[in-house]
Amino acid sequence: MPLLANFAQQNLEKASTQNRLRTLKTSAREEGIYVRRNGKKLISFSCNDYLGLSQHVDVKKAAIEATEKYGTGSGASRLVTGNNPLYSELENLLAKAKGTEAALVFGSGYLANIGVIPAIVGKGDLIVADKLVHASIIDGCILSGAKLLRFAHNDVDSCAKLLAKNRSEYKNCLIVTDNIFSMDGDIAPVDELYTLANNYDAWLMTDDAHGLGVISTNHTHKPHIQMGTLSKAIGSYGGYVCADKIVIDYLIGAARSHVYSTALPPATIASSIAALKIIASNKELCAKPLKNALLFTKLMGLKNAQSPIVPFIIGDELKTTLFAAELEEQGFLVAAIRPPTVMPGTARLRFAFSALHKVVDIERLVTSCQLLVARIIYSRST
Ligand SMILES: *Cc1c(COP(=O)(O)O)cnc(C)c1O
Repeated sequence: MPLLANFAQQNLEKASTQNRLRTLKTSAREEGIYVRRNGKKLISFSCNDYLGLSQHVDVKKAAIEATEKYGTGSGASRLVTGNNPLYSELENLLAKAKGTEAALVFGSGYLANIGVIPAIVGKGDLIVADKLVHASIIDGCILSGAKLLRFAHNDVDSCAKLLAKNRSEYKNCLIVTDNIFSMDGDIAPVDELYTLANNYDAWLMTDDAHGLGVISTNHTHKPHIQMGTLSKAIGSYGGYVCADKIVIDYLIGAARSHVYSTALPPATIASSIAALKIIASNKELCAKPLKNALLFTKLMGLKNAQSPIVPFIIGDELKTTLFAAELEEQGFLVAAIRPPTVMPGTARLRFAFSALHKVVDIERLVTSCQLLVARIIYSRST
């Protein structure tokens, strides 16, 4: 057995030769849409704080007031003494936003997915998941011990075929998909999947991490479980699920990541409440990220954005990293997303548009991108 240090060294070297080494870069977010890295002020096209609410004066004020009133930490899990009075206000707002009877807040979106899925399916059950669902869904599926099958991305027929062939061999069945895909920005065919779920006696769960506050997908039918996060457009932290009250009552004691993890800090809950109130009363603000994304796709000659997330798929991992580094040199912060976050051969730049971007910011970005496309992607030297 190698020394742990040698083991780590070998793995780091392997990642490095594959251009997949991951390191942390200190990034200080500043007022508005800016991030400071290595002393340089960059305009960010890489934050999921789509409405800029993490910097909003009313949201910050709510967090400060809650800290002064209740302190910085919650002291215990919610089932012990951590169930601060702010939770019920937040859960009512979430249930209202999603049109369900009830909601349950978790420590994060990741914790919601790894808690909810094993609470509703297990050994002897079947999960049918879109090929591109978020890693936290996959982790929840693996933890559950249920059989996991993947259908082709956003392909209802592929999902139907898997159900037709396999459903009868299992007891309970869960169909799960992102609502808006985090690395592709496209939208799942939720109504069709709901119909399939009904036809095959299955439950449908959607992950709306990137939807709430920016894309209102008005499905005819409500998925049985609607999961999401408070860390993106809500600008705070935490995860949630919305469902019938009886389902929520069950999850309170059955989702292990809810039972065995400390409740959120009061400031975090209070800022989510303040943000949700802004979202409920400001349609124009909520429409802006998509508008900005559409301007970008139009100017770049890409197909129309469906959400504030726009992928620009390059494929080659080195070129993708180089492209992002050049953009950073020019003052733009754009994430280079590589495998294993996305499938091999689909390394990409992931642009995230905010309500705070101005038309000129997007025009400047497009100009830089077009020059880099010519230089990096079409060059024969790399
Ligand atoms: C970000 C994200 C999560 C995880 O949420 P966190 O609150 O950041 O833990 C889950 N699902 C999707 C689709 C996401 O994009």
